[in-house]
Amino acid sequence: MRLIGHLDMDAFFAAVEERDHPELRGQPIVVGADPAGGQGRGVVATANYPARKYGIHSAMPISQAWKAAEVARRRGRPATAFVRGSHRRYSEVSERIMAIVRRHAQVVEAASIDEAYFDLSFAGSLARAADICRQIKLIIKEEEQLTASIGLGPNKLIAKIASDFQKPDGLTVVTAEEAENFLAPLPVRKIPGIGPKTEKSLARLGIKTVRDLKRFSPEQLQERFGKWGPELYERIRGRHESPLVTEWEPKSIGEQETFGTDTLDLNFIFTRLWVMCHEVFKRVKAEGFLTYRTVVVTVRCADFDTKSRSHTLPTPSDSPRRLRFEAMKLLMPFLDQRENPKHKLIRLIGVRVEKLGK
Ligand SMILES: [Mg+2]
Repeated sequence: MRLIGHLDMDAFFAAVEERDHPELRGQPIVVGADPAGGQGRGVVATANYPARKYGIHSAMPISQAWKAAEVARRRGRPATAFVRGSHRRYSEVSERIMAIVRRHAQVVEAASIDEAYFDLSFAGSLARAADICRQIKLIIKEEEQLTASIGLGPNKLIAKIASDFQKPDGLTVVTAEEAENFLAPLPVRKIPGIGPKTEKSLARLGIKTVRDLKRFSPEQLQERFGKWGPELYERIRGRHESPLVTEWEPKSIGEQETFGTDTLDLNFIFTRLWVMCHEVFKRVKAEGFLTYRTVVVTVRCADFDTKSRSHTLPTPSDSPRRLRFEAMKLLMPFLDQRENPKHKLIRLIGVRVEKLGK
């Protein structure tokens, strides 16, 4: 019997801020870019539950979050604290949480900074596995004063959806027999892989829930979704055999920056690019790597049109100057006719390295 747990910290960044700044406790908190009095750019990283009641959520433009907070405040509701946050502090807390999970399970996949899959098949029964999940939640609460939600199910898919089912501080247990019925009434969007675009196009066909989507045969799904169709057919029936990916290695290290104003000022853009390359290289070293082989540059224009270009070197490089040079070469075409014939202003650039070596 396969028993997989999925742990997801509740409003992680905001919860860490709340814990470390008692004066913020119970208040709406938004971690993310500087709102700059409503003129800010960039996005919300995490909103805590009181802030979510104002309609603020992660990935929302920070300016929009600011407006929502202002509307609430004018209605006499508590003011929202906007916090820039500290990625280093979140990483430290994350490491301690992953260590707690590893104390309870040998096979652990750290899926993101605040999410982990862990294999509890060794427990032998659902009841014992659920006890271990309760224990993990309890220890996280005691040692870190933070809450986590856990889903326990027959595979990663069900565990992941279950962890989201009773947030915050939830534990949702789904047996293999219940899995299909558990999914059926949920909105299609809950299935990992179905994003907002697919959700919309399905809604146009009158398909809102997983149950609705189950009307399609594997062939029909293939027609609609291509290669992914047959896999989706299995998923919406709760079947998913993916193994845990236990050897966690950062596949890439990158930085990005949303500019204060959209610009095509070459001097400014290259200066920022160099600063980012410097930061990226520092992090490559800090995470114990010596070399990189692939350099990726991302450019977002004022109209949010976003493109990435990458170059893989013939051999790994350990040179910060090479990184700067390659990043510049990739960025250049966006500053002239080649990639930017309409001279669109640039809103954001990012630099990333991949194929890291020790
Ligand atoms: Mg989370």
